[in-house]
Amino acid sequence: MTANATPPPVCPQCGQNDQVRRVSDLVRDEPESSLAQKLAAPRSPQPVAVIGCATSFFVTMISLSAAILATGLSELTATAPRTSLLFGVRDTSVFTGIITFLFVFVGVHAMFVWRQARASRYFRRAFTAWHRASERWQQLSYCSRCDGVFLPGQASLTPVDQVQMLLYARRPPQPAASPANAPTSAEAEG
Ligand SMILES: [Zn+2]
Repeated sequence: MTANATPPPVCPQCGQNDQVRRVSDLVRDEPESSLAQKLAAPRSPQPVAVIGCATSFFVTMISLSAAILATGLSELTATAPRTSLLFGVRDTSVFTGIITFLFVFVGVHAMFVWRQARASRYFRRAFTAWHRASERWQQLSYCSRCDGVFLPGQASLTPVDQVQMLLYARRPPQPAASPANAPTSAEAEG
């Protein structure tokens, strides 16, 4: 348990690392604590459900209902004599019903496809943001003396309440110093 190879990073506020813990360790060790819940890993977005049998069935049912309604309306308003009957109704009404079915079927299906395309676009964007946030979260450290979190190289401490802002920010925080002279434990002791 104590065989952690790398020492915790130095807190940018107090300049020490004796109270610093990795947020991933903290959340793993005490998942019930309120701090761990505030600092929980970013949740992955839900993938979009594909258009399946249920949707196609639903669309077919809507189209059929519309077709029956159109046939009925056409039959009620028709003035033509009932000379040519098809399924017990005028063939013009049947024709109206079939056309209605086709239009509604294609229209409603197109709406579903469009909605799914939009949803999967949202999902891709959310997934990219989540992926970046997760990578940052893995590097996040918490200083209990200063009650704040920071990423490696971050110049100032971020309050726990603003951790989401830090994780989902478009740009990573500005580094404190150039990475060439980043302090290591070997240099400090040697
Ligand atoms: Zn500190």
